Amino acid sequence: MKFKKGDIVILVILIAAGLAWFGLEQIKDSGSGGEIVIQVDGQPYKRTPFNKGMKRQTFHIELDEKRFIDIVADGKGVHVENVICPDKLCQKTGTIDKTGQSIVCLPNKVVVFIEGKGNSQVDNVSY
Ligand SMILES: [Zn+2]
Repeated sequence: MKFKKGDIVILVILIAAGLAWFGLEQIKDSGSGGEIVIQVDGQPYKRTPFNKGMKRQTFHIELDEKRFIDIVADGKGVHVENVICPDKLCQKTGTIDKTGQSIVCLPNKVVVFIEGKGNSQVDNVSY
């Protein structure tokens, strides 16, 4: 079986396209961790990439001279560690680790959620 020069060029292009597509799929998969979004009083406060195995990070947010909230993100997820809060529901929520999950601290007007890459699944968080 003989290949013409043109056939080989087409074959090479097809293989390259296939590899490129495969590569893109891999990148999309590895980037599915999403982002941790912290909002204070309805305003964006912090945005940071979330992925399993990330280094532990603590976000200490001073709400006023008496109140604060410590949000901890690590490889397992995100949780509220310390907070000055009357009901502590935010702390009781525990750890969130999936896109679309959220922790809401009603008295302090703090919202933490995990947003998927490219599409915001939590657009309207109700207080
Ligand atoms: Zn709270």
